[in-house]
Amino acid sequence: MRVGIGYDVHRLVPARPLILGGVQIPFENGLEGHSDADVLIHALMDALLGAAGKLDIGHLFPNTDPRYAGIASTDLLGEVMKILRQSGLRVVNVDLTIVADKPKISSYIQEMKKNLAPILGLLPEDVGIKATTNEGLGFLGRGEGMAALAVASLRRCHHK
Ligand code: MG
Repeated sequence: MRVGIGYDVHRLVPARPLILGGVQIPFENGLEGHSDADVLIHALMDALLGAAGKLDIGHLFPNTDPRYAGIASTDLLGEVMKILRQSGLRVVNVDLTIVADKPKISSYIQEMKKNLAPILGLLPEDVGIKATTNEGLGFLGRGEGMAALAVASLRRCHHK
C-alpha cells in the first residue's frame, strides 16, 4: 500500500469560471490559473503522483507550456492515471478537502464524485470529498483564494 498527500491554492479573481472537481459552480469569482485552475483536482493529482513516487504536476504540466492553456483538469487527471497504470499502480481510495468560505460547495459534492470516480477507476463511494470554511480567517476567509488538500492510496496491480 502506498499513500500520497497533495495540497494546492489558487487565487480567486473576477471573470473566470469556478470549476471544482470538474463541476462548474455559479459564483461571482473563479480560480486563476494556466489550466481551468481546478484546485481540487490539482491537489488530487499531486497526491496520486506523490504516492507513485513521481514528480509533481508543476513538472508534468508546466504552466509555460501552451498545450495546457485552459485545459480541463479532468483531462490532466486522465494523463496522471495513464502514468500510474504504466507504473503498474491502481487507486484504492482518495480523500479530498476543499477549503473555501464562499460559495457553499456541499450541494455539488455528489456530482464531483461522479465526475472523478470513473477517471480514477473507482466507485463514487471510494472518492471522499468534503468542504470546510476557514472561519473567516486569513486569505481563505477573505475570499482571496481557495485551497484543497488530498490523500490518495495506491496498490500495485498483480494482473495486467
Ligand atoms: Mg494548481
